[in-house]
Amino acid sequence: MKAISTQAVHAGRGDLRRLGVHAPPLDLSTTYPLEDLDRATADLDEAVAGRIPGGSPVYARLHNPTVGRFETALATLEMTEASVAFGSGMAAMSACLLAAGSRGSHIVAVRPLYGTTDHLLSSGLLCGEVSWAEADRVAEAIRLDTGLVIMETPANPTLNLVDIRSVVRQAGSVPVLVDSTFATPILQQPAELGASYVMHSATKFLGGHGDVIAGVVATDEARARELRQVRLMTGGLLHPLGAYLLHRGLATLPVRVERAQESAIRLAVRLKDHPAVESVRFPGLSWASAPAWQRAQMRGPGALIAFELKGGYQAASALMGAVRLMTPAVSLGSVDTLIQHPAGLTHRVMTAADRDQCGIGDGLLRLSVGLEDPDDLWQDLLNGFAAAEMTGKSRALA
Ligand SMILES: *Cc1c(COP(=O)(O)O)cnc(C)c1O
Repeated sequence: MKAISTQAVHAGRGDLRRLGVHAPPLDLSTTYPLEDLDRATADLDEAVAGRIPGGSPVYARLHNPTVGRFETALATLEMTEASVAFGSGMAAMSACLLAAGSRGSHIVAVRPLYGTTDHLLSSGLLCGEVSWAEADRVAEAIRLDTGLVIMETPANPTLNLVDIRSVVRQAGSVPVLVDSTFATPILQQPAELGASYVMHSATKFLGGHGDVIAGVVATDEARARELRQVRLMTGGLLHPLGAYLLHRGLATLPVRVERAQESAIRLAVRLKDHPAVESVRFPGLSWASAPAWQRAQMRGPGALIAFELKGGYQAASALMGAVRLMTPAVSLGSVDTLIQHPAGLTHRVMTAADRDQCGIGDGLLRLSVGLEDPDDLWQDLLNGFAAAEMTGKSRALA
C-alpha cells in the first residue's frame, strides 16, 4: 500500500501510458458511435444494472471515462472499492437518500449538519420522518424502518467532532453516511471506521480552487451500483470538465491540506488570545488532550476555524466588511482564505431555535484558511478587529 501523497498524484491514471498520453484525456462526448448493436445493447444493460460498461459508454448519462478516472482516484484515497461523482454535494446527498429510501424512509441524523442538508432533511422532500439524535443516543433512535444514519465530522460550522466508530456501532445493520467534506481523505478515512457512505462536497477542498461545483460518494461496489442507477435515472451528473479539474486538483490535495492546516493552527492560537474574541472552536487547540478516538480518527485538526466575537452581529459584520486579503464569501477549502457568517448565510435556512441549540450564534464567524502566509492573514484579521471595535465604539456613543 503506497502512501496517500503518492496515491494522490498517480491514482486514476492507470490507463494513460497505454493511451500514450501524460494528462488524462478530456472526453466531452454526449453520445458514442456504436460499431455493433449487440455489443452496444450489452453495454447498455451493464449500465442500467449500475455497472461500468466494459465497451462503449453508449450515452454520457450512463458513463464518462474522464469522470470515471476521478472516481477511481477518489476511491483509492478513501480506500473504498468505488466512488460515484455528482453535479454537486447536494446531488450526492440526494442520491444517497434516494438509494436509502428502498431500505426504509426513516432517517436518523446527528446535528449540526451543513445548512442545506439540514434543510433537505427537515423538508421531507426525499425522505420520511427524521429523528435528530445526539451522537451518543443514535442507538435509541434506530427503528425497523430506518434507512440511513447521517452525520458530519468535523461538523459545519461548529467543528464538533463525532466519533464515527461509535455511531457505526450504534447503527447496527443500518448504513451510516459520513459527510467528510471538512476532513478530506488526507485527514480521515471514514470507511476504514465502518462508514458505508463517505460523502464530499468536492466543491471544497477536493477541487480546492473555487472553480468546480461537484459532489462524490465513496462506498463499496454494491452501493456504488445503486448510486449509479440513481444517477442514471435522475441525471445529477458531474460534467467531465469538472471531473478533469477535480482529478488535477487531487494531486496537490495533501500539500494544500497540510499547509492550510499549519497556518490554521497558528491563527487559532492568536485568535484565542485576542481580547475581541469570546471563544475559538478549533479541534487543534486541545489536540494533545483530545480523547483517544479523536486522535485515531483524524490525522490533524484541518483548516477550518470558527470564532465568536464579543461584539456579536455588528462586530462580525464589520470584521467581514473590513478584511481585504481574505475573501468574504461562503464555501471553503479554496487556495484563498474565505470568511463567512454562518447564522446570516450558510445556516440561515435553519430556524433560530435550531441554530441556537447547535451553538451557531450571531457573533460567530467561520474562517477557511487558505495558502497565503499566516502572518499576512493575521494582519488582515487585526484590521478587521480594529474595524469591529470602531463600530462598537460608535454605537456606544450614539
Ligand atoms: C458545501 C457543503 C455541502 C453541499 O455541497 P455543494 O457542492 O455546495 O452542493 C455539503 N456538506 C458540506 C459539509 C458542505 O460544506
